Amino acid sequence: MSIVKCKNCSYQFKYLNILKSILLCYKPIKCPECKEDYKINILSRVTGAGMLNFFIVRSIEKKIELNPIIDFALYIIIFISLILLAPFLARLDPENNT
Ligand SMILES: [Zn+2]
Repeated sequence: MSIVKCKNCSYQFKYLNILKSILLCYKPIKCPECKEDYKINILSRVTGAGMLNFFIVRSIEKKIELNPIIDFALYIIIFISLILLAPFLARLDPENNT
């Protein structure tokens, strides 16, 4: 699991840049070295949304009755973990390539 590199110049994208792009609704990312525009590819978006749905559905369908506060805290922790992991899972496509 590693953060993507630029396909043209092998620039190692920064974790925070990718995280920021995800939080800004998958805003395109520009490679600072070769100025290529990248966007987070559809597969990464679907994977992220799918994982999020999985946890939402699981938390709704849960069979074991937990203390609601603990349950809520767990849900928040999972949610934050997913967001923090997202930059490692994200894959970039050159913007002019679709
Ligand atoms: Zn580059």
